Amino acid sequence: MNRFLLTSAFLFATASVVVAAQPTQPPAGWPELPPKAPASNVKLVEPHLHVNRAGKGAPRIALTFDACMGKTDPRILSTLVDQRIPATIFVTARWLRTNPDSLAVFLAHPDLFELENHGQNHIPAVDVPTKVYGIPAAGSPQAVAQEVKGGSDAMIAAGIPQPRWFRGATAKYTPAAIMQIRGMGYRIAGYSVNGDSGSLLPARMVEKQYASAKDGDVIISHINQPTHAAGEGVAASILALKAKGVQFVRLQDIPEKGDDGTTN
Ligand SMILES: [Zn+2]
Repeated sequence: MNRFLLTSAFLFATASVVVAAQPTQPPAGWPELPPKAPASNVKLVEPHLHVNRAGKGAPRIALTFDACMGKTDPRILSTLVDQRIPATIFVTARWLRTNPDSLAVFLAHPDLFELENHGQNHIPAVDVPTKVYGIPAAGSPQAVAQEVKGGSDAMIAAGIPQPRWFRGATAKYTPAAIMQIRGMGYRIAGYSVNGDSGSLLPARMVEKQYASAKDGDVIISHINQPTHAAGEGVAASILALKAKGVQFVRLQDIPEKGDDGTTN
């Protein structure tokens, strides 16, 4: 094969990948194209959620925390308890297994903590095969149902009241999965302010995110990464919001509005 042909083959391969959604393999002996990514055209939604605004007076904000797996961040937990800040905590069955002491703290303060369902194994509640942030999704309606039910079964076995809210790992869904989970009796918890970007932000950036929250916002952060700098920013931010006179609410306490059909 001469140089011109080789270049043409390369261009053909590149153009096919870029232009065609489903590239066909070139003739035998030509450079192979990368395999088609599974379900690369899956359209996922990441719903927003707000609580009803207070209107006049102190702004109303809902703090929500995901306990995905791993441990508990004592900087955040002790701030919530010591300052008597109400919050909604989304727990997985996986996290419950390894954090009985933290669960006991949550359960000892039912006036502060609402516990809701973050799934069984922290698998994205997406009903078609794909990956979200590199995490393989549940991949079928059956697997979505198992992720949701496995989460609530573990919660009830641990002495937690029946959850009414679900937030899947990565907080992304297909519209069909949203309908399915709604059909299982849940509202789905989006958010409106991303407090810590998966616990990956530096503390100062977390503080900026929290400081941007307004009346009616729902903030998402993580309470399961005690070694990350983000947690320090979360703890400081909670104190800063309290100093501003914010009225903290849980999802069960206040009417809310979510998009993509996630609430009523
Ligand atoms: Zn999570």
